[in-house]
Amino acid sequence: MVQEGHLMRAWLRITLWILAAIAVAAGVAYWWLILAGDGEPGQFRLDIAELRAAANEVAGGKPVEVRVEHVASGEMPLAFTRSAAGWEASVFPFQSYQVVRDGRPSIILETAYDEEAAKQSGATFFDREAFGRVLSAMAQAEAIVVTHEHLDHMGGLVTAKDLDTILPRAVLNKEQLTSDVPFAAKLPKEAQDRVKPLEYDGLHALAPGVVLIKARGHTPGSQMVYVQRADGKEYLFLGDVSWKMANIDLVRERPRLATYVIGEDRVAVLAQMAAIKALKDANPALHIMPGHDMAVLDAALKEGWLIKGFK
Ligand SMILES: [Zn+2]
Repeated sequence: MVQEGHLMRAWLRITLWILAAIAVAAGVAYWWLILAGDGEPGQFRLDIAELRAAANEVAGGKPVEVRVEHVASGEMPLAFTRSAAGWEASVFPFQSYQVVRDGRPSIILETAYDEEAAKQSGATFFDREAFGRVLSAMAQAEAIVVTHEHLDHMGGLVTAKDLDTILPRAVLNKEQLTSDVPFAAKLPKEAQDRVKPLEYDGLHALAPGVVLIKARGHTPGSQMVYVQRADGKEYLFLGDVSWKMANIDLVRERPRLATYVIGEDRVAVLAQMAAIKALKDANPALHIMPGHDMAVLDAALKEGWLIKGFK
């Protein structure tokens, strides 16, 4: 009896040690994947004078307004959007923008994605009419650009039925065309071959008042878009460099769990966030649009710098 009691106590001790070790490992993993931030951000070149110069590189009429279609919405825990945030749900709008010019076809920025892809990715709201307007605007656009190759930005382009009409208008960089990262939208191979990829480093003057900014990091094909209207008003579309404005204000990246799942270069993205924050502080009138921020979208519509519904 005495020996048996001894043995049981030994087993109990071992079991408790194992449980304690598992708890500590889980705690460390939770801290690393969800809570831990980063060191000092690196450098990313984002100079307002250079953006303005590039906006004036191509002669012609600049945009007169920017319109938006809010195609779909979903939810994600805030904790996945930035490290050390809470677990409350955060609304993710998915949108497409129409950069409108006088007497010239529009430029479409972001194509959202179709209903099937939206539902598969967990979207709880989808506006068929809004997506229909995106499709017809793409068919008449002078250029279609996306900030990156993820499905919720480029999906509307790759699933469009009339690729013969739409593809010649697509301005995609090589990485957007060929990237194999998770969640990338893929054109059918024969369609891929019909698009001549845009190659540039730094800035690319796409049209009067419209500048592409190479921003590899969130994905290999990521870029931001700067717009200067004819009346001087300025916009910076971040794509998914940042889903939310809070990441910019706090200069805080997504948690490591999110960057691992996405396959994101978090060092590059953090440097971009710091550069955007500096640009924002120095230029308070600049309209900055993160990838999926409902509060900023609502404010933009209310303040009138984005207009609801495509023309
Ligand atoms: Zn996105």
